[in-house]
Amino acid sequence: MGLYDSKNMGQKNLYDYIASTHMFSILLMFLSLIVSKQFFADNVHPLFNIRMFFFIGSVVLTAVTLYNAKKPVPLHNETPLSFIDILYSGFPLLVGAIILFIIGDDKNYTKVILLVPVIITASTFGKKSGLLMTTAAAVILLIHSAVFSVEMSFAFIIESNLILICVMYILGWFIGGIRDLERLQRQQLIDMANTDVLTGLSNHRYFQEKLKLLVQSSSEKQPLSLIFLDIDHFKQYNDSFGHIAGDRVLASLGRMLTMIVGDAGFAARYGGEEFVVVLPNCDGRKAAILGENIRAQVSEEPFKGQEYQPESKVTVSCGIATYPTHAQSAQDLIKLADKALYRAKNLSKNKVELYYSIFDSLDVKGDEKELVNSIRTLVSVINGKDRYTYGHSERVMGYAVNLAEKTSVTKEEIYLLRYAAFLHDIGKIEIGRAILNKQGKLTDEEWHILQQHPKWGSDIVKSVKTLEPAAEVIFYHHENYDGSGYPQGISGQDIPLLSRIIRIVDSYDAMITNRPYKGSLSKEEAISELIRCSPSMFDPDLVKIFIDIIKGQSSGAV
Ligand code: GH3
Ligand code: MG
Ligand code: MG
Repeated sequence: MGLYDSKNMGQKNLYDYIASTHMFSILLMFLSLIVSKQFFADNVHPLFNIRMFFFIGSVVLTAVTLYNAKKPVPLHNETPLSFIDILYSGFPLLVGAIILFIIGDDKNYTKVILLVPVIITASTFGKKSGLLMTTAAAVILLIHSAVFSVEMSFAFIIESNLILICVMYILGWFIGGIRDLERLQRQQLIDMANTDVLTGLSNHRYFQEKLKLLVQSSSEKQPLSLIFLDIDHFKQYNDSFGHIAGDRVLASLGRMLTMIVGDAGFAARYGGEEFVVVLPNCDGRKAAILGENIRAQVSEEPFKGQEYQPESKVTVSCGIATYPTHAQSAQDLIKLADKALYRAKNLSKNKVELYYSIFDSLDVKGDEKELVNSIRTLVSVINGKDRYTYGHSERVMGYAVNLAEKTSVTKEEIYLLRYAAFLHDIGKIEIGRAILNKQGKLTDEEWHILQQHPKWGSDIVKSVKTLEPAAEVIFYHHENYDGSGYPQGISGQDIPLLSRIIRIVDSYDAMITNRPYKGSLSKEEAISELIRCSPSMFDPDLVKIFIDIIKGQSSGAV
């Protein structure tokens, strides 16, 4: 279903109706030509010309009407008249004027022809245009009388045309008024269909359709940024203060967004407690400033209940992505802004994150770029394949860096660790969905396949020279401290330090997220599990440091 615009809300029907009227007049004129047998007469009467004018005029008007019905309908009704629109009104006026001047006598009924442009214009463009057209038609009438009634006084000229001019104004006013009313009601319906009732912002469908259009008209020089915004811990707020208070928060957030965004773009409710801000002609840096402004204002806003429970403070997290800098399509843009939001949530909430890919900061040249792009694609394939571990690589990267920073690991090694942690599961690309998402126990053969993924992963990563040192870290990331791991079965300090770090944080993330084969553990349960397994699976010294880090986190994951 498309945007609820004027086309979908009846404009097409109106044009269809006008076009059918024109077609009907073509038929009438054609019949009258035949009936009067003037078509074949040698001595052509002026009336024949009149019919020809009508005939040609109706054909032109039909073509223009059909063109209007097909052309893309603008989002807003208040668009300036196009050349075709002016032609649409101007042509009947021209035809009327020519007929009037050809006949050229004082037959008053011929003047009635000028009602046609008035009716057409008023019924198509509304009262204002209808009255303007009436004025133009009245001027033509007066000029005609002045030309053909030379001896008449000015007062007589006015008087003899007065009734017709009055009728024209009444028709222009009345028919144009009806047209305006219909347009207003249609606009109200369009607004209702595109608006979210609770927040007064645009709704999800309007956002999707408008974003698609805006992406089409954006470019490198005129980038388009998207802020994806989610209220932090909103379920908790609802639980504490009730859903009605929650609704009020959503409504005032809607008002705040409208005010803060202003003319820079538009805000919409994506769904639930998620909002989006679309910023045309805005790069990521400017969008981040606006996002930060929104975040700061929301965190300072005294929402109901916070005076009693400061810990239930309403805050928001924002993720930002830009087209075409990061994303290549509207859907991609939403996906990447969502990813950035995910990172903001994972880091600490009440935070603004601009999308970035760790691959962007990788210093590769020439052919290696292709390889990095392939790896980038592989990572997204894995994320899609193993839906339970969506975001797992990113989180493991975050935890691993946090843990490494508390040890003697050098800056260069941390740089390496980021890639190793992010790509540690890349070998899973070789493993079928059935094994990855299996609910029950794995068979021996399936286990054997699964155990190959560190080696396969390190082989893939090795192909990029810059990433070669990370390949070894990936190769050993499933070794256990007591030597019971795979693929080599090495133990203790023989396992590279960075691999030991990944071993811990990878397991911790698996514990606290839902997997097909088990539900998630609470943070406390996961800590107990880390301690229980620490001498056998994990380096006990590193586990101690990691537990301190987790306990130090005030909310959510690392
Ligand atoms: P997070 O910080 O991770 O975003 O946590 P959260 O609690 O905000 O997110 P979660 O997705 O767990 O819960 C979203 C909550 O938003 C659930 C629901 O109670 C609330 N919500 C969604 N739509 C509405 C609404 O229209 N009115 C109200 N009052 N609450 C809503
Ligand atoms: Mg949410
Ligand atoms: Mg939320």
